[in-house]
Amino acid sequence: MRLKHTLGLDTLRGLLRFYTLLLVLLPLVLAAGFFFFFQRGQVIKAELEGLSELLAKDRSVVRSWISERFADTYYLARLESTRTGDFAAMSRHFAIYKQTHDSISAVVYVTPDGYTAVDSSGAPNVYVGDREYFREAKIGRESLISGIVGRTSGKPICLFASPVTRPNGTFGGVVFLSVQLEALDAWLREATFGPGNGVVLCDGEGNILAPSAAVAADAGELPAKVGPQALLAGEDGALFRDAAGREMLGASVALPWGGWRLVREEPAASALAGYRRQAMWVALGTLATIVLISPLVLRLCRGLEEPLETLSRYARELRSTGYEETCSLKAPGELPRELGELFEAFSGMACEVRAHITAIERLSVQDALTGLYNRRFLFSGGLKLVMAALRAGQHCTCLMLDVDHFKRVNDTFGHQAGDQVLAHVSHLLAVAVRKSDLVVRYGGEEFVVLLIGAGLAEGLELAERIRRGMAEQPCPAAGRTLAVTVSVGVAEVHNQKDFDEAALDDLLARADAAMYAAKAAGRNRVVADQSDILMA
Ligand code: GH3
Ligand code: MG
Ligand code: MG
Repeated sequence: MRLKHTLGLDTLRGLLRFYTLLLVLLPLVLAAGFFFFFQRGQVIKAELEGLSELLAKDRSVVRSWISERFADTYYLARLESTRTGDFAAMSRHFAIYKQTHDSISAVVYVTPDGYTAVDSSGAPNVYVGDREYFREAKIGRESLISGIVGRTSGKPICLFASPVTRPNGTFGGVVFLSVQLEALDAWLREATFGPGNGVVLCDGEGNILAPSAAVAADAGELPAKVGPQALLAGEDGALFRDAAGREMLGASVALPWGGWRLVREEPAASALAGYRRQAMWVALGTLATIVLISPLVLRLCRGLEEPLETLSRYARELRSTGYEETCSLKAPGELPRELGELFEAFSGMACEVRAHITAIERLSVQDALTGLYNRRFLFSGGLKLVMAALRAGQHCTCLMLDVDHFKRVNDTFGHQAGDQVLAHVSHLLAVAVRKSDLVVRYGGEEFVVLLIGAGLAEGLELAERIRRGMAEQPCPAAGRTLAVTVSVGVAEVHNQKDFDEAALDDLLARADAAMYAAKAAGRNRVVADQSDILMA
């Protein structure tokens, strides 16, 4: 609940903004997230496939190159001169072979007892019988050896060795040819594929054989290595971090000889450069969409909030002013149909409430039988009228009228006839007074007339006119005309600034006393309040 309050979700405004923004943002963020996540994977996958394809091509050309070198040693090992141990002929053949093959730095024959007997590079006779290629040859196997330094050139080389078989079938030594890694470099650069020929040839431990720039710089050493993750990446390739912590894409394939491997690797950043540009555009697109959509969303929210706020404010105002506000509510601008209907219904409801209140207020101060104001109104509206007049320095006069022998009418002609007489009297009273005066049914057959701004003399004159009018105009009731007379008591008030309810009571009492005096004097007459007469 507190969280809802903090987020403003307990208000219509908060809810509208939250959910509309959510509806807009969620698909955008999901779409962008989907793009960032899957597109990156796709780019990496495609790049690794590219690396694998290049490596497969590289492998086939390197394989054929190695096969050619083995074919060379095989050919030299099977020369007649080699098989029979004719060193002079061998020297000639080997020299020619070396001259016609640029990449070959030396062709050497090793005797069965392990000494180099013929060497096209002209090196002295040395014992190599403890070398691995010699041991391999002794058991009839060819071998490819790397990680060694040429005796005469002092440069890193690799050896292709092939066993020699004497005509009688016995072991006849070894022929090997050496290839400088520099030559391998040059050849690899020309023969392998892909941008920058980024392929690397290394041995089983990852020592780089070619390109051998690092090796050449520090002749004899083979320090430059391929990272273990790149070696393990396999033919399908893999994404990994190198020793420096950089994200790399790499693939590697094995060659069938000497434990050699071909490796390609590249920083993932360069492969992902295109993807990063795309991602930036997607992010910018998302941002632009949000910037463009937000004002529309806010406009929609305002379009719903404003009319509802107006309605709610109006409802509060109506309550606080006791429905005094004008009931025709003006709906703001162009509204959605439902809101327009809501405004119309609310407006209609407010009008009805106002009309009911007016009717109830009217009924509460009106006498149902005669339509005149009742005693309650005399003490509210009537009191106010007298107070205002007195404050303005005017006189006011009160007439208290009572129908003479009214009980007889009831008793003789029935209650209904009595009611008709009361209505008749009321009508005559209402037409006799000015608009500014007030006629009230004070009790059963008693009426009060308040003359606002009129003194005792005017009051007596009007009272007499009324009395005469009553006497002259009998009331048609119960199938006949009934003579109706009234006795009237008249009392005046003036010069009384602090006129209040008690003062009104007093005025009424004085008029009532005068009216009783009229009764006592024989009815159908007008009597003025004695104190008023004395004062006058
Ligand atoms: P007096 O000349 O002394 O005023 O005699 P009265 O008969 O008029 O006076 P009284 O007070 O004895 O009688 C008033 C009667 O008015 C009594 C009551 O039944 C009757 N009355 C009061 N209100 C109504 C009404 O609304 N309708 C009818 N028909 N009679 C009413
Ligand atoms: Mg009476
Ligand atoms: Mg009476």
